[in-house]
Amino acid sequence: MQRILDPAQIESFAQRAIPRIRLPDPANLFARRAERLRELGRNHVIGDYLRLMATVSDAQQAALDALSLLPPPSGQAAGEVEQRMAQARTHAMPPLQAAGWPRDNRWRTILNELCDAVTVSAGSPDAVRAACTRVRERPAAHLEEQANLLLADGTEGVDAEAAPFITAALQVYWVHLATSLTLDAARDLALEHHSAVPVDVSGVCPVCGTLPVASVVRADKQYQGYRYLHCALCSTEWHLVRVKCSHCLSTEGIAYQGIEGGSEAIRAECCEHCHTYRKILYQEKDMEIEPVADDLGSLALDLLMAEEGYHRGSGNPLLWQTSG
Ligand SMILES: [Zn+2]
Ligand SMILES: [Zn+2]
Repeated sequence: MQRILDPAQIESFAQRAIPRIRLPDPANLFARRAERLRELGRNHVIGDYLRLMATVSDAQQAALDALSLLPPPSGQAAGEVEQRMAQARTHAMPPLQAAGWPRDNRWRTILNELCDAVTVSAGSPDAVRAACTRVRERPAAHLEEQANLLLADGTEGVDAEAAPFITAALQVYWVHLATSLTLDAARDLALEHHSAVPVDVSGVCPVCGTLPVASVVRADKQYQGYRYLHCALCSTEWHLVRVKCSHCLSTEGIAYQGIEGGSEAIRAECCEHCHTYRKILYQEKDMEIEPVADDLGSLALDLLMAEEGYHRGSGNPLLWQTSG
């Protein structure tokens, strides 16, 4: 006898057909970002800043490459990680929840490596070199406190000079963690994400619990036409249907705005319900787009949206504005 699926089952199969998550490719994630930042930096009003962040991204790639050669955590550290991942599974929470994660000191070594790379780069202005030297000399306790603050999405008391470098170092650390997830864990996550993650955390990265920097409508084969939110920390991407506010999840009152005469590959997806916007990138209009770089390279769109009374869903990880 032929079995008939009920509508809920059909819906659940349809949802499973869409790849829920895309883990970042550690082989070239930061190198691609650096290349894109350099390209966007040509004749750009904040070209110097984009080139500085390209230098940082190159150094991030080198740090990540070095990290991947290290043995995985063992002993007590491994036990702690396993315990946290098991807890996350039980409570349907992101397995590598950034806030409160038992981070290894290693992230501060990465921070020093990034600062050193900027200091020795021929293109770095003197003021930036001096800033990197100062960041390098900050006491470990201060850096740990700042990392906790940034990972918890805090704004009060952020050390604005150090913040982009601290975040860049934490990105390397979390991309390493995310890409060290075994295939099985990633597959479980991809399949379970839709039903297992509670609604109140659906706006954050299913791997590390961080807010997205922007979203991308992918044009590559397996993902064509699907929209993914891009994690500001670990660069994992997770699926969200199109024409839906990534902040309040409203599907009504969604509009798209761009800069007149600007790139067609980038728009602000704004919501009349919560007056929040996040940028959405269209890969079919430009195959080279990279969420963190393109978000940073389109500050003019942020100015336009601010003028129109919308606020950003969350900041760019490589930019810290003291004025908030
Ligand atoms: Zn993440
Ligand atoms: Zn909204």
